[in-house]
Amino acid sequence: MTHTPYRRCAACGTRRPQGELLRLFRASDGAVALTVGRRTGRGVYCCPHEACRSKTLGKSLYAKKLGAAKVVDEKLLRGQMQNLAAELEQRNGAVRHGENHR
Ligand SMILES: [Zn+2]
Repeated sequence: MTHTPYRRCAACGTRRPQGELLRLFRASDGAVALTVGRRTGRGVYCCPHEACRSKTLGKSLYAKKLGAAKVVDEKLLRGQMQNLAAELEQRNGAVRHGENHR
């Protein structure tokens, strides 16, 4: 294993290994796309927790930060995030819960 890059969640500010965060980025067509893991380019990271996903979407943080040219179908994006978050949690198994919960 090489070193793990840490990234900060746009919603709660928690730093996590990149592989534990959802990543929103601007695709070549200007739309916002979703992935996990390392890619180059500008991105917005977000914990898989529902609270953080909602906050990131709700504030349109991603759109501002990414300078996305296209308005995204937010419902679609929300669904995608949910699926990916579930996948992430399964894959990581030991995703730490409650770190930043009050
Ligand atoms: Zn978060």
